[in-house]
Amino acid sequence: MTVFHILGFPRVGAKRELKFAQERYWRGEITEQDLQDLAKALREKNWQHQADANANFIATGDFTFYDHILDLQVATGAIPARFGFDSQNLTLSQYFQLARGNKDQFAIEMTKWFDTNYHYLVPEFHKNTQFKANPAHYVNQIREAKAAGHQAKPVIVGPLTFLWLGKEKGEAFNRFELLNSLVPIYTEILTALAQEGVEWIQIDEPALALDLPQEWLDAFPSVYAELSKVKAKLLLATYFGSVAEHADLLKSLPVDGLHLDLVRAPEQLAAFADYDKVLSAGVIEGRNIWRANLNTVLDLLEPLKATLGERLWIAPSCSLLHTPYDLSVETQLQEKNPDLYGWLAFTLQKVEELSIIKTALEQGRHAVADKLAASQAAADSRANSKAIHKAEVAERLANLPVDADKRKSPFAERIKLQNAWLNLPLLPTTNIGSFPQTTEIRLARSRFKKGELSLADYEAAMKKEIAYVVRRQEELDLDVLVHGEAERNDMVEYFGELLDGFAFTKFGWVQSYGSRCVKPPVIYGDVTRPQPMTVRWSQYAQSLTNKVMKGMLTGPVTILQWSFVRNDIPRSLVCKQIGVALSDEVLDLEKAGIKVIQIDEPAIREGLPLKRADWDAYLQWAGEAFRLSYMGVQNDTQIHTHMCYSEFNDILPAIAGLDADVITIETSRSDMELLTAFGDFKYPNDIGPGVYDIHSPRVPKAEEIEHLLRKALKVVPKERLWVNPDCGLKTRGWQETLAQLDVMIKVTKKLRAEL
Ligand code: GLN
Ligand code: ZN
Repeated sequence: MTVFHILGFPRVGAKRELKFAQERYWRGEITEQDLQDLAKALREKNWQHQADANANFIATGDFTFYDHILDLQVATGAIPARFGFDSQNLTLSQYFQLARGNKDQFAIEMTKWFDTNYHYLVPEFHKNTQFKANPAHYVNQIREAKAAGHQAKPVIVGPLTFLWLGKEKGEAFNRFELLNSLVPIYTEILTALAQEGVEWIQIDEPALALDLPQEWLDAFPSVYAELSKVKAKLLLATYFGSVAEHADLLKSLPVDGLHLDLVRAPEQLAAFADYDKVLSAGVIEGRNIWRANLNTVLDLLEPLKATLGERLWIAPSCSLLHTPYDLSVETQLQEKNPDLYGWLAFTLQKVEELSIIKTALEQGRHAVADKLAASQAAADSRANSKAIHKAEVAERLANLPVDADKRKSPFAERIKLQNAWLNLPLLPTTNIGSFPQTTEIRLARSRFKKGELSLADYEAAMKKEIAYVVRRQEELDLDVLVHGEAERNDMVEYFGELLDGFAFTKFGWVQSYGSRCVKPPVIYGDVTRPQPMTVRWSQYAQSLTNKVMKGMLTGPVTILQWSFVRNDIPRSLVCKQIGVALSDEVLDLEKAGIKVIQIDEPAIREGLPLKRADWDAYLQWAGEAFRLSYMGVQNDTQIHTHMCYSEFNDILPAIAGLDADVITIETSRSDMELLTAFGDFKYPNDIGPGVYDIHSPRVPKAEEIEHLLRKALKVVPKERLWVNPDCGLKTRGWQETLAQLDVMIKVTKKLRAEL
């Protein structure tokens, strides 16, 4: 036998049923019981899929109403005391208040789960945090699975990763000190699970793929010595990267098995060749949507099986939380692009792949010969497809001049030429791009997509919006105008739809946080730009005003980061292809007289690898791809970029290396702290710190903006400073937008007069 198991399943359902039910529950349209019933049905479906595919264990405890780290906060009694809730008797309504905030308390902060696009709720640890075991969440799901006739394997994030992912709050201390009081609570929880009669418990310690301090690593043996006293076997799961450097440590732990991510880090297998317990091989990609070549997977597994025998388990590389649910509902894609359809595998298809591998390992490849042949045929068709591999793209990239990604002259010279024609006042004002995406805009788009509105009528509606946006900005007396991005549904999807090499799914949703899901485009082939994408919109906007109109593009790193990316060539190469394709657009904009062009890169920081040792290589190619996107522009063309949601202190040299003439960043919520870092670094080019938070409809007081701008003037020379909101305004309404911008401009004018 070869044990096949799943590390975790998507929770939201094939058609986002959980999302819609949650939101209806929040609006008071359905009862808690309705929501509980739906959740139970979803879990049963998830389990049945695993059982039908002959999985030996069914993952339980992975289902959550919001987030598995929030569930763990409840299970360990570590919910923020500021809410005043009793973790032992938490109602579902209170659970959601922790996640979403209530009238007295802001929500628990969210951040990215490792390098995924999933966000977890960050535990708030205090010096005096008192843990208390409350295993109900895990116990209930085991009982439910057992009642449905399944062999449950509960899944829980381990104590070191849990602590690591949290933040210290209140009086200064090191959260590592809480480990001693946390471990007994884990023992209590695991004991409760063991008492349910489960044979195995999966404990996830993905923090092992990060750069953990030595002190934390040193704690593993004693922590796991304690936890292993529980009367169930422990499978320690690692994923998202190699743990080879911890091989000795991991081999010494008194657990009963170890899971390795052999998709992200196949090379780490060698370090565990002599592992003498259960080795769970994560061989099917849990982070992407590509069908595996099962023969290749078997080539890896068969020798392992020969040496490990029953000790070899097979699994996806990580939880399937990060892949969409079911490819078979993508009938449109199947019709339009049958080849591509054949190269994909979503959660259910990945489960099926593992099932085939299991059979092949148990009975030989001949037992599944037809399935292996189909898998091979798909792999061959992909490897040889003309739709993917375009000679002209490879040639163009290979023949780029060495300094293709360098501007013709240094910033100091360029900015003089730019200022000469731009003729802007000190502290020029601008916007980040989008203006309110009103219901009318969305309605027009959805009617156009349904065929209820003709292309001409749709475009006329968008032009009307653009004209409105231009007029309002003129009235406000902004300096560099934007067209407002009315015609864009989303900053990545819009470009994906116009570039070659991209495809879109209908139900390819993955959870981002809580009830929010994203549907990333699929980059499947070499990227080209068949025709101009934004030029006529920008040109039209420019024709309406004598002020300068800024062109607006999404950068290559952000497009890459927010898509499912092909895995047959390096990400760096895909990114450069996008950069080169975008450069065609930049040059067309320039030719059309749009000589201020913003290339947004809000996602540049989130692409950073998990281990610091890999940062430089990433920043190198990401920077190059970005710079390629403006290759060939004239010195007097002004390139802007925009970034948000992040700190840049530790990557400032790379940000400066992008050599954008102007960078606008989100700073208002940090009281300009972010900008101080740019100042200390002596960031050389122009910079526009955001002077108000665009996430709120609140109109800032003049004094607030003045305070921020005065702070900014202390760290940035007045000649280098721009004034703008934190980010685009698409989520705002018009009324507050006009009021907010009005304050921003009045304050700017007041300060200008003093300079
Ligand atoms: N230009 C985009 C906008 O204004 C930028 C969005 C972003 O940074 N997330 O909406
Ligand atoms: Zn932004």
